[in-house]
Amino acid sequence: MRAIDGRAHANAISRELATDVARLRVGGVTPRLAVVVPTDDPATAWYVRTISRLAGKVGVECVVDSVAGADRSGIVSRLAEWSGDPTVHGVICQTPLPSGIALADVASAIAPAKDVDGANPVSLGRLADGLEAYPPATAAAVLEILRRENVPLRGADVVVVGRSTVVGKPVALLLIAADATVTVCHSRTVDLAAVTARASVLVVAAGRAGLITADYIRPGAVVIDVGTNPTADGGMVGDVDPDALEKAGAYTPVPGGVGPVTTAMLLRATVTAAKSARSADAS
Ligand code: NAP
Repeated sequence: MRAIDGRAHANAISRELATDVARLRVGGVTPRLAVVVPTDDPATAWYVRTISRLAGKVGVECVVDSVAGADRSGIVSRLAEWSGDPTVHGVICQTPLPSGIALADVASAIAPAKDVDGANPVSLGRLADGLEAYPPATAAAVLEILRRENVPLRGADVVVVGRSTVVGKPVALLLIAADATVTVCHSRTVDLAAVTARASVLVVAAGRAGLITADYIRPGAVVIDVGTNPTADGGMVGDVDPDALEKAGAYTPVPGGVGPVTTAMLLRATVTAAKSARSADAS
């Protein structure tokens, strides 16, 4: 069992981005990401600082727009304003949203060309249709880790635990596009262990600490643990029981696995959007 170093992958992506951004800036384009923050949730504030820090490191400008207290239409109008701003290339709406508002209620206001965290339902639809679209950054991170780790996906038995719009479904769509044979499990799956134990690649995004024990893992499988579950002592654990990991060939630790790569992929999508906007201007 080998721990996959998500921070090392994130650093490698960041170095590539810094080079791309330097080139864009020479051409007069500074990639710019607008982050609309609809609550004053401390965990969200911490994550937004993480995005801003990495953005600064690679040369992307990050504008944090705090709209705590805004209602649905207030959030929608901020997202629409940033989407219409020609100096902005990426727009995200940070979750959680105020209670009673779902991401799908507001994310349609993000222009698909600037939807760098794949939140607009149009982006997921395009992804399902094999059309160009930005996937949610976490889903993109899962595929990027598998690619950088040279994990074969064509024809591989891949099981995804979780069917959310933000992780499970887009991960499954990206894996299908990579020619994997994909099974998606959820809370109603009968005998989850029997299904997951078939997987040469197991992606877990259930948000249930310790859900995956040794019985759930095929010996030597690659296990990507997307789960982030807060612990009583202020730490964080994944969905996979640490004792089960010795059965895996390789696994992403929590923290230090999917999380750092997710932030890097968000910035990569912003840089891609800036490049696309420049090409569109030139044509
Ligand atoms: P979610 O919307 O709550 O979805 C969880 C999914 O897991 C649902 O499809 C649910 O099934 C399924 N599930 C729950 N309990 C299960 C069980 N006992 N057996 C099988 N399936 C079960 O959560 P999410 O937004 O997708 O996030 C999943 C996890 O990833 C969370 O821990 C979240 O914090 C983490 N996350 C991490 C990152 C990152 O960058 N590392 C980013 C986003 C999310 P049903 O559909 O039947 O309810």
